[in-house]
Amino acid sequence: SNSPVTLLGLGAMGKALATAFLTGGHPTTVWNRTPGKAEPLVALGATDAAGAAEAVAANELVVVCLLDYASVRDVLGPVAGALRGRTLVNLTNGTPAQAREMAEWVAAQGAAYLDGGIMAIPPGIGTEHAFLLYSGDQGAFDTHRPVLERLGRAHFLGRDAGLAPLFDIALLSGMSGMIAGALHALALVGTENVAATEFAPMLQGWITAMTIGIPLYAEQIDSGDYAHGVVSNVGMQAAAYVNLIRAAEDQGISPELIAPLKPLMDRRVAAGHAHEDLSGLVELLRK
Ligand code: NDP
Repeated sequence: SNSPVTLLGLGAMGKALATAFLTGGHPTTVWNRTPGKAEPLVALGATDAAGAAEAVAANELVVVCLLDYASVRDVLGPVAGALRGRTLVNLTNGTPAQAREMAEWVAAQGAAYLDGGIMAIPPGIGTEHAFLLYSGDQGAFDTHRPVLERLGRAHFLGRDAGLAPLFDIALLSGMSGMIAGALHALALVGTENVAATEFAPMLQGWITAMTIGIPLYAEQIDSGDYAHGVVSNVGMQAAAYVNLIRAAEDQGISPELIAPLKPLMDRRVAAGHAHEDLSGLVELLRK
């Protein structure tokens, strides 16, 4: 099924999305605020629309991938009338609340809405390494699934448009903690002239191995029993964490990337949870 598609936004990600549609054989109409970015795509067979309204009018399926939701409103606001009867798939990064607000606005224009999260970097688009999260209009997802699958595996999470960004942001949040820890570790060994590239394989193996704890944390969080299966209790971890902060300072490294965990551990210990697992920290995050 080589159904046609419109793509608004030809940044690093938009270009990769357009390329995947085109190599998948889908007639693709593209538009970008700054002209000139469509040239390599036109060479692959894309149609370069003269304006956003023309691009939206060209096809029933309209995919948008811009910097943020404010830029989506900048682009779609003036051409809202052209959306009637179309399906808008918004692959722009945003929050669940922004997605729900966008879903309402798009419905008011008489169009179907799918929100999406891209779990890949541009070179991964269209490969087996890419997956994308979708939520919103299930009928629209079912109809357009073949073309969406060109970008990467497509996961539909539910009718609440906020679900895709919720999962997306949760995955990015988990990644950000991993990156923060890794950068701190690389800086720390660097204080003794250890090349980051020399230490990196050991660090990568360690972090990869430590992800084995995630399913146990999840069980503890679901059950509320943070003592279940514990092997590294918070009391022990809080004592060791003092050394993580102290070693950073002794070596002349700011501990700010790792520091936020410490007061939370201390609070759990002070509240009598020293024998429990680290997963109990989520109790302190709930407002
Ligand atoms: P880029 O910075 O490369 O491109 C940004 C795009 O947004 C450009 O097309 C730019 O147009 C457009 N834009 C920005 N502001 C406006 C505006 N006010 N009006 C109209 N167009 C605007 O970003 P990416 O392509 O990398 O990212 C796009 C989205 O994809 C983001 O939401 C990002 O979070 C998400 N994403 C990106 C990943 C990545 O690794 N790159 C991974 C996963 C998701 P112009 O050319 O005119 O400046």
